Amino acid sequence: PARAAARAEKFDTAAIQRQDTAHYMHPFTDHQALGGKGVRVMVRGEGIYLWDSEGNKVLDGMSGLWCVNVGYGRTSISQAVYKQMETLPFYNSFFNTTNLPAVQLAAKLAEISPPRFQHVFFTGSGSEGNDTNVRMVRRYWDLLGQPARKVIISRHNAYHGSTMAGASLGGMDGMHAQGGLPIPDIVHIGQPSYLESGRGMTPDEFGVAAAGWLEQKILEVGADKVAAFIGEPVQGAGGVIIPPATYWPEIQRICDKYGILLIADEVICGFGRTGRWFASELFGMRPDLITFAKGVTSGYVPLGGVLVGDRVARVLIEQGGEFNHGFTYSGHPVACAAALENIRIIESEGLVDRVANDTGPYLERRFAELADHPLVGYADSCGFVAGLNLVKAKAAAVHDHELFDPALEVGMVCRGHMFGNGMIMRAVGDRMIIAPPLVMTRAQIDEMVALIRHCLDLTHADIKRRGWV
Ligand code: PMP
Repeated sequence: PARAAARAEKFDTAAIQRQDTAHYMHPFTDHQALGGKGVRVMVRGEGIYLWDSEGNKVLDGMSGLWCVNVGYGRTSISQAVYKQMETLPFYNSFFNTTNLPAVQLAAKLAEISPPRFQHVFFTGSGSEGNDTNVRMVRRYWDLLGQPARKVIISRHNAYHGSTMAGASLGGMDGMHAQGGLPIPDIVHIGQPSYLESGRGMTPDEFGVAAAGWLEQKILEVGADKVAAFIGEPVQGAGGVIIPPATYWPEIQRICDKYGILLIADEVICGFGRTGRWFASELFGMRPDLITFAKGVTSGYVPLGGVLVGDRVARVLIEQGGEFNHGFTYSGHPVACAAALENIRIIESEGLVDRVANDTGPYLERRFAELADHPLVGYADSCGFVAGLNLVKAKAAAVHDHELFDPALEVGMVCRGHMFGNGMIMRAVGDRMIIAPPLVMTRAQIDEMVALIRHCLDLTHADIKRRGWV
C-alpha cells in the first residue's frame, strides 16, 4: 500500500527545492552552485529504477551510492526491519549484553567470509569502520610490545571515508586541504593506475612496479614503524581503478615480508560486487582486517564494520583486556535484521554466482564494446563495477590517446546528458563509472549499454558544437 500511494502522489518540486536550499546541507556539495540549479528529488525506487518528483524514470547505474546490491523495493527487508522495530528497536551491546540479530549476523558474516575471519566489530558506517581499523591495528602492535608501529600506509586517490581518520587514510587532496589532514602517522603511495602511470610497461609489469612503491615507502619510514597497509581491492570513488592481476599478490608478499597487517577496505567491493562475497578472494589478497558497509544491508539502513581476522582477534581477545572503543549503534538490532534478510536474498537468488559466471561476464563484454565509440579511449570492468575514459582523439596505444583539457570538465558534461536522459552514471574527471545493482538482468544490461551509448552520442554532438573536438 505504501508503494501504491507513492506511485499516485504528486509533488511540488519547486517548493521542495526551496526548502532544501534553505535548510539542507548536502554531503560533498557546493551549495551556492546547487541553489542556482535546484536539486533533483528522488521519491521512489523499484528494482534497478528510480523515479523523481517530476515523474521521470531513471536507470540507477550506481546502486544508489554503490550500495543497493539487491535493488529497490524489497518488501522482505522492510518486513524484517518492521518486525525487529516492533520487538526490540534498540538495545546496546556494551554492558555484557547482546541482541539476537547482531549475534546471528556476526555468525553469518563469519560463515560467508574466508575461514580466518571469525569475529566482527560493528559500526554505523564505512568511515567508522576505518576509524576502528586505525585504533585496532595500533592497539594490536601495542599489545605485542611494538608501540612504535603506528604508521599506516595508504594510497593517493584512495577513498576511505569522511571522518578524521577515514579522510586521512583516504588520498583525496581536496579532502586533505580542509580541516588539517591527514592526522599524524598516515602516509600515502601512488595508486595502481595503469592508464596514469603504466606507460612503457605491460599491465602485469606495471602491477609489480606499483606494488614496489609500498616496499620503498616501508624502507623510507622504517619497517619497525609500519603498522598496516590499507587499500580498496578496486578503488571506487577514485574512478573505478582496477589493478593489474599482479598487483595484490605482490602487495601481499611485501606485507608478509615485513610482518605488516593488510587491511582490505571492501565497503564497495564486498557482498558480491566483483562476483565474490569479498573481492580479496578474487585478487589473491589475505587481509587481516576487512572494512565493510553499504552492500551488507544494500543500503536499506546504515550499517558497517570490520571483519577481524584470527591474527588480530587472538591478540585482542586473549591479551587485550578491554578495547576502549565502540559506538551506540554497534550491532544495532534493526540494521542487523536488515542485513540478515539482505544476505538471505543474495544467497537465495544466487547473486554472487550470477555476477561471477553470468551477468558479470556479460556486462564486461557489452561494456567493452563501448570502446568503439569515438569518445571512448578505454573501457574496463570487474564484476558489476566498470568505467570508461572519455578522450579527445584516439591513438593505437592507450597511453597515447589525446586527453581533454581537464578545465573543460567533459565528464560533467557527459554526466549531465546521462542524468537528463534517464541514466545515472557518475563522472570522476573524464572517467565515467557505473556500479549497477547485482539483480540487473542481461536484458537490462542491454538496455543500459544502449542508453549509455545514446548519451555518449549526445555528449559528442554537444562538445562538437562547443568546438572542443
Ligand atoms: N571506504 C570506501 C571504499 C568507500 O567507498 C566509502 C564510501 N563511499 C567509505 C569507506 C566510507 O563509507 P561511509 O560513507 O559509509 O562512511
